Amino acid sequence: MSTPPYRILTDDEYERVYRAAADAAGPHRQNLGRYTLAEIVSATLTAAGVFEPAPTPEPDTCSALYLPTDPEEFDAHTLGVWQQCGEEPDHGDTDHNSGDMGWDDGMPGAFPARTTEQEA
Ligand SMILES: [Zn+2]
Repeated sequence: MSTPPYRILTDDEYERVYRAAADAAGPHRQNLGRYTLAEIVSATLTAAGVFEPAPTPEPDTCSALYLPTDPEEFDAHTLGVWQQCGEEPDHGDTDHNSGDMGWDDGMPGAFPARTTEQEA
C-alpha cells in the first residue's frame, strides 16, 4: 500500500486559505472562534491531501517532526496533525516518539531532527 500524494502549504498559502475561510464565515465568524475556524480549515485541506505548514519545533526536545498523511492509517483526529518527538535533543537514533505515536526518519511524512551539533 502506498502513501497517497500530499502537499504541505507554505505559511503564506495557509494564511490566505485561513483568511478566505474567515471571510466566507462572515457574521458566523465570531461564534466559531479562531480555534474552530482553524480546525475547519485544517480538516477541509486534509480531506484533499493538503496539509498545514510545519510548526516551529518546541525547544528542549528532539526537533524531529512527523506529519500523519495516510487516511487509511490515521483517524480524523490525528490525520494531518503535526507530531514532534518528545525525546532528548540529539538522542542519536532515527526512531522518534511524540507520546501519541512513534515513527522512523525513513517513513513518508517524517522530517529528521535538526541537530544542534552540526556546526561544532
Ligand atoms: Zn527524536
